[in-house]
Amino acid sequence: MHNGMSGDQGGGGSRLAGIATVVRRPFFVVFALLTGFEILQLLTERNVADLAKLTALALLGIAAVKERGQLAVVEGARRAEAENFARILRRLSSSVSPDAIVTAIVDELGAATGADHVGVVRRQPDARSLEATVSSTRTGSHPSRTYLSLAELDDPGRRDPMLRETAPDQRVADRIAARLHSDYGLHNTLAVPLRIGGRVEGAIVLARRTDDAWDGRAARLLEGAATEASFALTRAYTLHDAEMRAATDSLTGLPNRRSLDEYLALLAKRRRADDRVGILMIDIDRFKNLNDGFGHAIGDHILREVAQAIAGAVREGDVPARFGGEEFAVVLRHPGEAVALEVAERVRRCVAELDFRSLGAGSVTVSVGVAVATSAEVDLAQVVERADHALLAAKRAGRNRVAAA
Ligand code: GH3
Ligand code: MG
Ligand code: MG
Repeated sequence: MHNGMSGDQGGGGSRLAGIATVVRRPFFVVFALLTGFEILQLLTERNVADLAKLTALALLGIAAVKERGQLAVVEGARRAEAENFARILRRLSSSVSPDAIVTAIVDELGAATGADHVGVVRRQPDARSLEATVSSTRTGSHPSRTYLSLAELDDPGRRDPMLRETAPDQRVADRIAARLHSDYGLHNTLAVPLRIGGRVEGAIVLARRTDDAWDGRAARLLEGAATEASFALTRAYTLHDAEMRAATDSLTGLPNRRSLDEYLALLAKRRRADDRVGILMIDIDRFKNLNDGFGHAIGDHILREVAQAIAGAVREGDVPARFGGEEFAVVLRHPGEAVALEVAERVRRCVAELDFRSLGAGSVTVSVGVAVATSAEVDLAQVVERADHALLAAKRAGRNRVAAA
């Protein structure tokens, strides 16, 4: 931490308010009246020993009341802290996407700790940079987002022995806070590491304009929020991973049949009246012979190479998928009159150009069937069927060719 974790449990003002609450109780009023009356009586009788005893008793009574008052204040502060934390927890557990989790952290921590700025720095899965989101809790303006180098996650303690008294993950968090200080001018920072999947993958940083030390309450809330955010982000990323795995064909890395179907269903819902959608159905020619002649492992290798050739032959917005076995499909978005046929021909040529001579297998060819839906009225499942028929026609016509529905 840039600042220590020490701190009192509440401000002087709220402590006085707590004592005042206790003092207002009838018990205290009766106690004060009786004591006052006794003191008056003893003063008039000038009994010094009894006066001393009673004064001591009165002081003890006041000390006890004061102690109770302080306890009430501490209790109140603890309860508020627990409520803040529970709110953070609730927001986090109902936040499923990583972005929603970050927004929840920023909102809740800003409100609960009195920070002027909250920065969340994290590495997205497979990303080559760290994403930094810095939000102002005062202005309500949009958070600003920048990207930092992954090198910010390297432990600065490896080079600088002076830093070794701090725990390694905390050293990384402090370094990120220093970076936000230099990039955003964030002042008086308090930082904790953000761990995802058990590794430090970023930090949460609080900042404020004033120089007052952060109190223990803010530090504890920040630590608690970081722990919960770590769980929530780990869960979100694991889910994302699992979804990606379920949608991807493990042999070729292309989207699988399931995700192709989902994509087509999505397109069916979103299409505008004159949206054109093209489907290519692609099947490797005489693949059974290759498998039987060269073995399954070489068959798999050829499948991967063909998948890459198909993906490389289509534009970015077009979606290639493994339909099953040695069959592939490509969904073309907005293909013009001749474009679908052109793309199909390019796919055919790119596969035919693959060279498997080093495996003893020579070349491989594909047949391609093409169908285009020219309006949103046309059912996409029927277009897939038409493309499949066209593929059969290409096979019957001699293979290694393109046929249109
Ligand atoms: P055609 O030109 O008529 O398409 O002939 P073909 O031999 O390609 O057609 P067929 O459907 O008879 O054979 C497809 C073969 O693809 C059969 C199966 O062994 C093989 N195959 C399907 N999936 C895989 C896979 O994942 N790996 C390997 N190595 N082979 C597969
Ligand atoms: Mg087949
Ligand atoms: Mg085949």
